[in-house]
Amino acid sequence: MKSYVVGIDVGGTRTQLGLFDGENKIVAQKHFLTDKEIGAGELMDLLASQVKKLAAQAGLGTDDLRGVGAAFPSYVDYDRGVCVETSSIMALNDAPVRDMLHERLGLPVYVDNDGNLSALAEHELGAGRGFDNLIYAELSTGIGGGLILNGKLFRGMHGMAGEIGHMLVSDSIGYPCGCGVIGCVQSISSGYYMARYAMDRIKEGEESRILDYAGTISNIDTVAVGRALNASDPLALEVVDRGAEYLGRMFHNLNQIFDINVFVYGGGVTNLGRPFVDRMIAAYRHYSLRDQKFPAQFIPGALGSSASLIGAALQVK
Ligand SMILES: [Zn+2]
Repeated sequence: MKSYVVGIDVGGTRTQLGLFDGENKIVAQKHFLTDKEIGAGELMDLLASQVKKLAAQAGLGTDDLRGVGAAFPSYVDYDRGVCVETSSIMALNDAPVRDMLHERLGLPVYVDNDGNLSALAEHELGAGRGFDNLIYAELSTGIGGGLILNGKLFRGMHGMAGEIGHMLVSDSIGYPCGCGVIGCVQSISSGYYMARYAMDRIKEGEESRILDYAGTISNIDTVAVGRALNASDPLALEVVDRGAEYLGRMFHNLNQIFDINVFVYGGGVTNLGRPFVDRMIAAYRHYSLRDQKFPAQFIPGALGSSASLIGAALQVK
């Protein structure tokens, strides 16, 4: 019975695989650190062998699989099954990953961007169930997302819709981003650049408990910022306010374009907790006059860091 599906989530740091039964329940799982220097062919060899191993662990062969779905941290041309551009695993640039995996496994293979697949999973099985229109925002080391329009994932003309992190929200602040501009929301409000801003302020001589919690400047991350925030540290407050302000602008712009105000959010930056989320919502409300009449819903994702893995599997028809 071909009822099983394997989902693969290739992350910038960690790669996860999950074996799902016919009810989308995960029955076996494995993960390993992503080798970012690996060649595209080697990576596909590795993924194919891990798919077979995972199935074998459950007493299954590839004949028992209906297909394989994979999520990549990359722009993905969905129709062609090609990773178009990525900043995390350089060898994936222009790699025809769908065909490469299909050649190795002999199974139907589906590939998409991780933000799109998280949106799909939250819409079908998570916090977005019951909403025909929603915007998913992944607030993590980087910022990504996905759009559900009229009950369906919207991929745009080239499969690249929903890359909300590169929305330009300032022409005066931000760090140079891989997308080519300074001042996209990722260059200000992502976990990486919020930490970078804290580091730079401390290097300039600002005293902060962030450094006490991180130990060294190079160890500063949003976890240390969050702990300092709980201790009412002024720099932590500034870092979080600055990040939240530009996310509020991003959500406002999204609502202006799509008239969608159901926002499902996930990702490690949200571990900064209520003080951060409340500031982000307040920034949105500051700009959105419509919010008085049509109050937005900001809903935490229900699937956590498994969202893109689950979405990867859900692609398989
Ligand atoms: Zn950018």
